[in-house]
Amino acid sequence: MKTEKQKSEWIPEVASEDFDSRSGIEENGGHPGSSPASRAASGIVKRRHLSLDEYVNGVLSGDRTILSRAITLVESNAPAHIAEAQKLMQRLLPFTGRSIRVGITGVPGAGKSTLIEALGNLLCDRGHKTAVLAVDPSSTVTRGSIMGDKTRMEKLSGRPDAFIRPSPSGGVLGGVARKSRETMLVCEAAGYDIILVETMGVGQSEVAVRSMVDFFLLVLLAGAGDELQGIKKGIMELCDAVLVNKADGENKARSQAARMEFARILRYLQPATEGWNTRALACSSITGEGVPQIWEIIGDFVTLTQKSGVFERRRTAQSMEWVYGMVKEYLHNSFFNHPRIMKVLPGIEQGVMSGKFSPTAAADMLIKEYKVQTPDSED
Ligand code: GDP
Repeated sequence: MKTEKQKSEWIPEVASEDFDSRSGIEENGGHPGSSPASRAASGIVKRRHLSLDEYVNGVLSGDRTILSRAITLVESNAPAHIAEAQKLMQRLLPFTGRSIRVGITGVPGAGKSTLIEALGNLLCDRGHKTAVLAVDPSSTVTRGSIMGDKTRMEKLSGRPDAFIRPSPSGGVLGGVARKSRETMLVCEAAGYDIILVETMGVGQSEVAVRSMVDFFLLVLLAGAGDELQGIKKGIMELCDAVLVNKADGENKARSQAARMEFARILRYLQPATEGWNTRALACSSITGEGVPQIWEIIGDFVTLTQKSGVFERRRTAQSMEWVYGMVKEYLHNSFFNHPRIMKVLPGIEQGVMSGKFSPTAAADMLIKEYKVQTPDSED
């Protein structure tokens, strides 16, 4: 383990503002499993550029230092890194997909990190390799509040068979989600067969995480009778199980009652996955009671959906969604960053606000302006 003062191993050669230099959970350069390439590349010696082959071989052999650096490359917004990252992804792709991807959401304080600590350790004890990732679009502002605190997953973060990666600081949600998807694939190529993706319960990030996982778990707390308060129906319809956490001590009976109430409510909602009835569970992430049952349910889900073909169909649909998402992102940027559009947009906005142009006419003008400047033959 390195000391806090040393430079993080996952800062790229050309560190830019896109990189968060805070000390990362996954920092364990010099791990016994590190290869000579990774040792040479990490730590006190000046970091040297890794070749594509070194990245590929390092990731495939499960070298954690190189895995960290590969993820950093994938997260980078620098054009040179993006090109290299794409080559790397292309090489790693045949080794991806062989994992179970589980999304975990819930409001801050629901106990997601504590649950991941409990579940992750259980899975590692059973011989799985577990990677924990986070999607938190607000991390640019908060500097990675989500999972920024190592102590919340103290035991798990020290295990050689677990890998914990905080949310990338990527700005907009679309960018963060894209990076997290690729990070997930890199982890799969490195042999992690369980991927836990944590998200904060903040609206759109749930939709983004749902679109990258097989199973989605909503962590809740027992309320004071009014179980549905503050929980949007939409979120319950995205998940495959709701879990009432902190079912221990004085809270145990109340949590069991809440679980029953959620089970009743779920019967009236649209299930997220074809052929699967969304379950209501209860557990204590502190005592561990009910945690093995969560994994049993996920196992049942995987067996059932693999048999029915729903599992594979969802993955294919997710890949296409990802493709379209990237195309949309490209077109959006191409449009709004176009010099002519940037020039005429304020005037057209004014026109709409003052009632001079109808919204349809304004959209038409903008599109015409864009098309004039970017004929099909261009680019
Ligand atoms: P997160 O913000 O959703 O990741 O929540 P944390 O995992 O940080 O947990 C918030 C607080 O709830 C911490 O003080 C935990 O110790 C506590 N907590 C989490 N799970 C449980 C549980 O199962 N039982 C009890 N009693 N406390 C819990």
